Amino acid sequence: MSLVIPAPAPVHLPVAGGGLFPVHRIYCVGRNYVDHAKEMGGDGREPPFFFLKPADAAVPVAEGQTGTIPYPSLTRDFHYEIEWVVAIGKGGSNISAADAVNHIYGYAVGLDMTRRDLQSDMKKAGRPWSIGKGFDHSAPIGPIHPRTATGEMHKGAITLKVNGQMRQNSDVSMLIWNVSETIEQLSKGWTLQPGDLIYTGTPAGIGPVVPGDVMEGAIDGLGTLRVAVV
Ligand code: MN
Repeated sequence: MSLVIPAPAPVHLPVAGGGLFPVHRIYCVGRNYVDHAKEMGGDGREPPFFFLKPADAAVPVAEGQTGTIPYPSLTRDFHYEIEWVVAIGKGGSNISAADAVNHIYGYAVGLDMTRRDLQSDMKKAGRPWSIGKGFDHSAPIGPIHPRTATGEMHKGAITLKVNGQMRQNSDVSMLIWNVSETIEQLSKGWTLQPGDLIYTGTPAGIGPVVPGDVMEGAIDGLGTLRVAVV
């Protein structure tokens, strides 16, 4: 049988050292650093919770390049969130924390771009966050660094500068729920698939960007992600 409409274009991310990583889904963890959980009004002790972005919200940015994203519609408070991203290479459900590392293909630097005003409105109304989080171009991401090259990561400075000014500065070892625990919890709710990305949460220091701003995110060992808002 032939397709009755054009098939959606696949979303591929460059892999450091060569190859392409096909994206299946984008999962995101909310409030996973104590300092950020507090700035969002929590006490930093909640169990992990998850939301999703569509796969085609990913904006692949090659190392050394500056990606561009449009200032989105409907918002007057467009925020950056720098995040450590885990790329799943082997799927499964009910994955134990002890086995989780075997499901990781690699790691990347990502931005969880957020229409904060819309997210806040939805929270107040008890409605889904999709319009605040899951919109077009909301998931810029750098190349995937294979775990075979990096080893299993547990620590590393995570930073975000806007126009050269430091705005977020933490370490991925400060995650409330570490990557293995996150995979264990997430795989209770969904069957993870090869190609899934997990945005693991952002540290404190979130804030707005406007057209003309350039964001520069970095994680030790995973390079630098440069993205301009246009
Ligand atoms: Mn986030």
